[in-house]
Amino acid sequence: MSPIEFRRELHRHPELSFAEYRTAEFIEAALAAEGIACRRVADTGVLATLEGRGNLKRAIVLRADIDALPIAEATGLEYASENEGVMHACGHDMHAAVLFGALQRLARERDFEGTIFGLFQPGEECTPGGASKVLAEEPFKGYDVVAVIGNHTDSTLEVGQIGVCEGPFMASNDELRFYVRGRGGHGAMRDKIDDTVAAAANIVTRVNCLNDIDLVLSIGKVQADGATNIIPDTVYMEGTMRTFDQRLRESIWAEVEAVAADVDRHFGTTTEVVIGHGYPSVINDGVLADAVRSLAAERYEAVELSRRYTAEDFGFYTVKYPSVFYRLGVGAAAGRSHTSTFAPNEDAIEVGVDFMATLAVRL
Ligand SMILES: [Zn+2]
Ligand SMILES: [Zn+2]
Repeated sequence: MSPIEFRRELHRHPELSFAEYRTAEFIEAALAAEGIACRRVADTGVLATLEGRGNLKRAIVLRADIDALPIAEATGLEYASENEGVMHACGHDMHAAVLFGALQRLARERDFEGTIFGLFQPGEECTPGGASKVLAEEPFKGYDVVAVIGNHTDSTLEVGQIGVCEGPFMASNDELRFYVRGRGGHGAMRDKIDDTVAAAANIVTRVNCLNDIDLVLSIGKVQADGATNIIPDTVYMEGTMRTFDQRLRESIWAEVEAVAADVDRHFGTTTEVVIGHGYPSVINDGVLADAVRSLAAERYEAVELSRRYTAEDFGFYTVKYPSVFYRLGVGAAAGRSHTSTFAPNEDAIEVGVDFMATLAVRL
């Protein structure tokens, strides 16, 4: 099966995060047909193993995500989604096809040292993230993992362009939830109430003041179900917080709690702050980023990217192993990802396969 056929099959049958049952079965069958050994990981993920020469304990992990999004496809493509309301709108079908193609080539040529793992990872789009589930199973225990390599489609780059960024590349993401509680009541009787709405507004303002060059905090939802003359007992709010540095991230968790506690002192409210810990920041290893940069410059076109405030569960690998995550150009005509009309140029698959396989052999 060609990588393009592989991609179209996945595209036709997209599945949501942690429900990639058919996807995993299809990947297992496709690998088996190539004589590539594999097993399940994190329930709906697939881990392929290729052994080369020499020290087989020295390993490289090539990673692709395989989940789709709850979006109704409107591309009109002949291989459009047949699973209503679900679509490969983030290019994970492309990532899986690139990984499949790279493994196919590496298996046929069998010209490398050590072990190469091909990790088809479930649940990238949904916290806690499939990467954390995979790592919890310790699938690489006993191996010296020298590189974890992943890529993502990018429609701001043309086919043949590889985007690279050294060091911090993608942000951590944490979910913030606030339950501001107090004595609600008649809006005219301020001596009998705790003004939960005013307290919540203060929290929004003060949390926003924490925004800085290395830090994003946004409150996107505020629910205060009162009326002109009613102050509600509870105001609920939620938002996101993003950083590139684990120490800063932890200090801001404490700072947000401190802001809520201080507001409570002024307003007599009791605020419960719930911080849902998401993905850590994607930190690209300097040596590996350099390897990506020079290979791209040699065979294709390397494009220097600046860090981005979006998040990726690939961050979990970068905390544990030397890792690199680069961007694969799929052309501006692809449109924006996470939309119903996202349609990457399939010519990018060949570039992605060649790039990933060559990088793996080099490393
Ligand atoms: Zn996505
Ligand atoms: Zn994605």
